[in-house]
Amino acid sequence: MNDETASTPLPPLHSGGCHCGAVRFETRVDLSHVITCNCSICTAKGLLLAFTPAENFTLQQGGDRLNEYRFNRHVIGHMFCTACGTEPFARATTPDGVPMVALNVRCLDGVDIAALNPMPYDGRNS
Ligand SMILES: [Zn+2]
Repeated sequence: MNDETASTPLPPLHSGGCHCGAVRFETRVDLSHVITCNCSICTAKGLLLAFTPAENFTLQQGGDRLNEYRFNRHVIGHMFCTACGTEPFARATTPDGVPMVALNVRCLDGVDIAALNPMPYDGRNS
């Protein structure tokens, strides 16, 4: 945490969860920066991602239903519900050590997906 962060307004509060409702969370995340990534898992799952520091994310229920999938360099923990199979979020750490959550914007409540302006990200080649 630095001084710049303290003076920055908090991003908007969103709630979300998995499809069956077992996993629920609240998070502060800025949906003006949403990406679509062309890596193998984002392609397979249709992930629409927004990132926020892990301190802006609170898992409210369903931790016992979550399982973690890692592949390739094993740096991202893809968290999925073992009941319904959806992936509401993933966990990772920035190169300088900040824990982050990558939210699947499709699993946030009440978000108009068509109104977003996602940026392509070349995850397949990075
Ligand atoms: Zn579920």
